[in-house]
Amino acid sequence: MREPIVAIGTPFGESAIGVVRLTGKGVLEIAKKFFRTNSDIKPRYAHYGTLTDEEGEVLDEGVLIYYKAPRSYTGEDMIELSLHGNPLILQRAIELFLRAGCRLAEPGEFTKRAFLNGKLDLAQAEAVAELISAKTELARRASMRQLKGELSKYVNSLRESLLELSAFIEADIEFSEEDIPTLTRDQVIEMVNRVIEGIDQLLRTAKVGKLLREGMKLAIVGKPNVGKSSLFNALLKEDRAIVTDIEGTTRDYIEETLNLRGVPVRLIDTAGIRRAHDPVERIGIERSLKKIEEADVVLFVVDASQPIGEEDLKLYEQIKDRDLIVVFNKTDLGDVVPLEIFEGHSIIKVSALKGYGLKNLEEKILKKAGALAQEGLNIYVSVRHEELLKKAKDTLERFRETYEKEYISPEIAMLDVREASDYLGEIVGYITTEDVLGSIFSRFCIGK
Ligand code: GDP
Repeated sequence: MREPIVAIGTPFGESAIGVVRLTGKGVLEIAKKFFRTNSDIKPRYAHYGTLTDEEGEVLDEGVLIYYKAPRSYTGEDMIELSLHGNPLILQRAIELFLRAGCRLAEPGEFTKRAFLNGKLDLAQAEAVAELISAKTELARRASMRQLKGELSKYVNSLRESLLELSAFIEADIEFSEEDIPTLTRDQVIEMVNRVIEGIDQLLRTAKVGKLLREGMKLAIVGKPNVGKSSLFNALLKEDRAIVTDIEGTTRDYIEETLNLRGVPVRLIDTAGIRRAHDPVERIGIERSLKKIEEADVVLFVVDASQPIGEEDLKLYEQIKDRDLIVVFNKTDLGDVVPLEIFEGHSIIKVSALKGYGLKNLEEKILKKAGALAQEGLNIYVSVRHEELLKKAKDTLERFRETYEKEYISPEIAMLDVREASDYLGEIVGYITTEDVLGSIFSRFCIGK
């Protein structure tokens, strides 16, 4: 068991309950020093008692639960102490445990230990952080499935196919003189093809996986008063952005998360990008332009009830090479803008005020972002997984190409197959480095 660590597991601030977690060597003894209760502390029982400091002053009353190794989240001895949710109390408790020999836990350290102790594989451990930060039901469900091991199962089955293949090749080397079954060249190719096919299936989920994890970035661009804020609000169905008749009130950009049929969308409401003399406004504009570059989908909004003006066209010039959705807003007042001006781009007619055409627009946005493409697998890989899958696929394709063309010695063939299976192994964490673990767990909250 590793050194004892301690952390607060609940958010900072006043709350009904605040939880202090300890894990590692000797945490029961440490807790017993300060937690007074009537009975002996038994694993998996809730014990009511008082927390007292070294001088015997009662800090708080609370409930302690002891999880004995290996039947705990981390796989080590663990204590969870539920106290009143006052940061002062929780801080005092932490200081007490630090003085008694605990160290403050790093972000994600509890889950990292769970991984190191074999309680979770790496893909599952990643899912814990994603579950906590999921912004929509779909994202929550996807991370829950990953936590349950669905991605791991799929990846493991691909990896096992490769290990099987490599065993056949190995047998070919060791027993080449003997009469044992080996694979024909066609069979080898077929097995490799099957694994590549499986990898492709996962890779097809990467786009949605990224959107679910990071949110789709949507920029709304247009000259002042065309209804960008109104559209923003109509999509958000909340009155967060400032909507007024005075030009240039939306100086900076605002970010909000919107739930578009399960995909978290980060709306970027941009300032009207135009030449501004006001320095504050100019900073806003520069930032807006930068934001537009980062956006997954850009909406270019025009007032369809008015003829297109110089300003609209200038703006359009700046961004027309992007993949845009042109939004004709205020169609409740009229529709006088010819479609030809925006040739080559999708045009959606809406009224932000009346709510017309919004469903249509939502659909188009999702389609543009590639969020409607993948259904079926219900597993969505992350950027890290995607990179490893691509490496595995490249290795297998390279192998297949050479193998089809010429004779490769079994020794070399085995190396390629092993390399590919190692990449898959990195997804679930059979093979990892401190760097990889560091970058994964540093993204967690403290106490998880
Ligand atoms: P922005 O400067 O582009 O963000 O424009 P706003 O969202 O602040 O809207 C400017 C004005 O147009 C406001 O008075 C809105 O109520 C009005 N407006 C926005 N969308 C529509 C619409 O679809 N129809 C009508 N009739 N008015 C709208």
